[in-house]
Amino acid sequence: MELAGLSFIGSQRGQTGSKVFHAINPATGAELEPAFQCASAAEVNTAAELAAAAFPAFCAKTGKERGAFIRAIAAEIEALGQTLTDRVMAETALPEPRVKGETARTCGQLRLFAGLIEEGSWLDARIDHADPERQPLPKPDLRSLLCGIGPVVVFGASNFPLAYSVAGGDTASALAAGCPVIVKAHSAHPGTSELIGGAVSRAVKATGMPEGVFSLIFGAGREAGMALVKHPVVCGVGFTGSRKGGRALMDAAAARPVPIPVYAEMSSINPVCLLAGALNERGAAIAAALHTSMLMGVGQFCTNPGLVLFDSSANAAPFREQLVKLTSAAACGTMLTAGICQAYQSGREKLVAHPAVKEVATATAAGGNTATPAVLETSAEAFIMNHELWDEVFGPCTLLVSCNGVAEMTLIIQSMEGQLTTAFHGTEADFAAARSLFAAAKNRAGRLIFNGYGTGLEVCPAIVHGGPYPATSDGRSTSVGTGAIMRWVRSVCWQDAPDALLPEELKEANPLGIGRLVDGKRC
Ligand code: NAP
Repeated sequence: MELAGLSFIGSQRGQTGSKVFHAINPATGAELEPAFQCASAAEVNTAAELAAAAFPAFCAKTGKERGAFIRAIAAEIEALGQTLTDRVMAETALPEPRVKGETARTCGQLRLFAGLIEEGSWLDARIDHADPERQPLPKPDLRSLLCGIGPVVVFGASNFPLAYSVAGGDTASALAAGCPVIVKAHSAHPGTSELIGGAVSRAVKATGMPEGVFSLIFGAGREAGMALVKHPVVCGVGFTGSRKGGRALMDAAAARPVPIPVYAEMSSINPVCLLAGALNERGAAIAAALHTSMLMGVGQFCTNPGLVLFDSSANAAPFREQLVKLTSAAACGTMLTAGICQAYQSGREKLVAHPAVKEVATATAAGGNTATPAVLETSAEAFIMNHELWDEVFGPCTLLVSCNGVAEMTLIIQSMEGQLTTAFHGTEADFAAARSLFAAAKNRAGRLIFNGYGTGLEVCPAIVHGGPYPATSDGRSTSVGTGAIMRWVRSVCWQDAPDALLPEELKEANPLGIGRLVDGKRC
C-alpha cells in the first residue's frame, strides 16, 4: 500500500508543496519514505469547518448507525495486516508481538464502544413525568439525555501508535459520543497514521457518514495542533504526552474567548508500596515482577513504576539483591524516538547526580537510541524535601525510597502530586494495618492495585485510567474503558416538549428499547 504523505481533509487529501518532514527509524536512524506534507493553515481550517458541518447529522445518527461505522473502522484496520505491522515497527522500534497485540487492542476498543452505543443505556436517558395536579405548583415533564459536545481534536500519542493515536481510545470514544474527530498525527509515526487514516476514511464512505466526521492533519512543529485547539468550532481536546505539551494545550484552551475542555494524560510516577510482611515473605519474587513491569515497553508506559516506597524495618536484602542482579544484566531497548531517548537519559543522569540520590544498579549502556535501565535510591526525608525527585523520568528507571513504616509511606503519598496508579504489596496482616495508606492513596490516584503493577491495564467498563493533576488534566475522567465516552458529552434537558420533537431515546413509547430512569425507577 503506497503512502502519499498527505493529510486527510474530510474526503479530500491535502496538497503538496508545503513544509515536509520524514519519519525516522529509531533503531537505525534512517529517514523513512515518503516525505509528509505539513497541512497548511487553510487545510487545518477546512478540516475544522467540515467537522462543524458534519456534527448535526453525525450526532443525529442512531447508536446502531454509528456503531456500524466504528465496527467498519476496526475491520478496515484488520485488513491492513502485515503492511501496518511492518510500518509501525519501522517507525517505533516496537517488537512485532507488541504491535500485533496493540492492533488487536485498538480494534477491541473500537468494538467495545460500538457495543456500548448500539445498546444505548449509556445515554443515561431520564424521564420525570409531569404532574399538573401537584400542589402548590404543577410539575413539568422533564427528560434529559447525554449529547455529544461537537468537534473534538485528538493528539496521537507517541507511546501508543495505534491504541492511542489515529483510531485509538480518544477517537473511538469521541466518535461513539457523536463527535466528529480531527486528529493531529504524532510526527514520530506519520506512516502508521496515514495507514489508519485511510482505514477510517474508507469506513466513513462505506457506511455513508458525513465526510467531515474525520480528518487527519500532518504537521511537524506546533502550529497545526495549536491552530486546531484555538479554532472556534472545536469543542474538546484529547491528548497523551508530556506535561509541558499538555499544559500548553490546556492553557491555550482556557485562554480562548470560549474556553473548551482538554483531557490530557501527562505525567505519573505510579508509586509502588512494599509493606513489611510481603518484603520478608517474598522479596525476590516482588523484585522480579517489578523489574518486568519497569522494563515493559522500554519503560515507555504511563503506568511505569517510577517510584518504590519500601518499609525499611523489613528484611529488604532479597528484594534488593534480585533487583540489582536483574537490572545489571538487563538489555537496553530502543526507545520510540531520539528525543524521548535524550529526555530519558538526561532525566536519569539528573537523578544520579542529585546529592541525595545514589545509584543502586544500572545496565551496561548500548548506545544509539537505547535506554539504560537504572535503579536509584534516596531516603524518605530527602524525597519529601526535594520536589525535583517527583518528576516523571519516562523510561526504565525506578527510584527506591526507604520509609520508616506505613506512617512515613502515607505521609509521602499524601504529599505527592496526582497519580494514575498506586500499587501495594502486602500480606493479609500488612493490609489490615495499612488502611490509612489506602485512604491517602485513594485521594491521589485513579487506580489502586493490590499485589500487582499498573502496566498491562485491562480495557473494560470498570477500568479507570486517569487521576488528579498532573496525571491528567481532569481527575474526574478516564481515557481508557467505556467511561472515556463521558469526556465528550454534556446533559441536555427537554421541558414539556411535544413527543414528536423529542429524540428517539426520550420518546414516551421508547422506540429504541433502551434502559431509562423513569420517575426514579430503572426500566
Ligand atoms: P509531546 O512532546 O508532549 O507531544 C505529543 C503531541 O503533542 C505531539 O503530536 C506534539 O506535536 C504535540 N504537542 C506537544 N506540545 C505542543 C504544543 N505546545 N503545541 C501544540 N502541539 C504540541 O510528547 P511526546 O513527543 O510523545 O514525548 C515527549 C515526552 O513526553 C517524553 O519524553 C515523555 O517524557 C512524555 N510522555 C509521557 C507519556 C505518558 O503517558 N506519561 C506519554 C508520552 C510521552 P508534534 O508531533 O508535532 O511534535
